[in-house]
Amino acid sequence: MHVHRRLLNNSMTYRAQRARIENRALQYKMGRRGAARDEVITIPVVVHVVHHAKVPEQNIDDDQIRSQIDVLNRDFRAANPDVSQVPEVWRPLVADARVEFRLAEHDPLGGATDGIVRVETDQDGFDTDDAVKAAATGGADPWPSDQYLNLWVCQLGGGLLGYAQFPGGPPQTDGVVILYTAFGTTGAAAAPYDGGRTATHEIGHWLDLLHIWGDDDGACASDDRVPDTPNQADSNAGTPSFPHVTCDNGPNGDMFMNYMDYVDDRAMFMFTQGQSERMDACLEGARASFVVAHHTGAPAAQPAAAQPAPAKAAAGAGGNGHAEGPVERLLHDTERLTKEVLDEIHDALGLVTGRTGT
Ligand SMILES: [Zn+2]
Repeated sequence: MHVHRRLLNNSMTYRAQRARIENRALQYKMGRRGAARDEVITIPVVVHVVHHAKVPEQNIDDDQIRSQIDVLNRDFRAANPDVSQVPEVWRPLVADARVEFRLAEHDPLGGATDGIVRVETDQDGFDTDDAVKAAATGGADPWPSDQYLNLWVCQLGGGLLGYAQFPGGPPQTDGVVILYTAFGTTGAAAAPYDGGRTATHEIGHWLDLLHIWGDDDGACASDDRVPDTPNQADSNAGTPSFPHVTCDNGPNGDMFMNYMDYVDDRAMFMFTQGQSERMDACLEGARASFVVAHHTGAPAAQPAAAQPAPAKAAAGAGGNGHAEGPVERLLHDTERLTKEVLDEIHDALGLVTGRTGT
């Protein structure tokens, strides 16, 4: 939220993009739009391990990295064994987000890669100022963020486990940063954050999910803009007991076992249908490039998840006209989003210079 507020303050483009993204999420929430895809998509991941020579543990091994990818592929498919611990009342809400992750097999120039970049730094640690995301400031430059999910793993100060950038932000800082002891389930991963759930939570943000308590410091005034998660006062920590009632949300109380709360790794194990819908809105809007790449058979597309694309004609496509497939629809939507944002910036600039918008 710190990064989000900084970007809101500093970037008119980000403000406009966030408004568009929220508007789109609202259309999905209200049922005016629905997910165009029903197949699983795979997102190529590059892991930048930024480590200091004096602390060799920071240079986490490949197994620890692979253990993190395994967790993501269970959690985003509701295939995690602990999903069985979801309280009975919320079991029907458990969602398979239809998203999988795979270490990149092609680098941005098309060469073979294992999806892991190792960079030695002279920095003792990093914080939310994004220094880790650029070689010039002791970190590692991102790979193109419309083709790869960039994960930076490093030492973070101030008790921070990780942080993410919401969709709509600058491409050069787009991605997720995770503390090396809160990444994966093996090697340097340390309890109680050795379940790989920090990355699940942060990638939830990267796919536009908000904190389940609404970031209102206990006021019960705002929520996460997802209809099927109960409004709750504040974040939960540790391993709470069910039910934990706040904000008059009894009898079932807070859904603290949701990945978007702050509980220990072993106490969080679900996304809801509403959250999955919000991720759909993101993947068919601001992050549509990943779905388009999947459909067009770009190098990122994975045989494992490749099922025939449903030849679904867009609703309302005219009788004589060329029926849009899901890919064309997404491309047009992306173009429209870009145009809307440009128009909004144009209008805002018009106001600044005293001209009236057209
Ligand atoms: Zn968070």
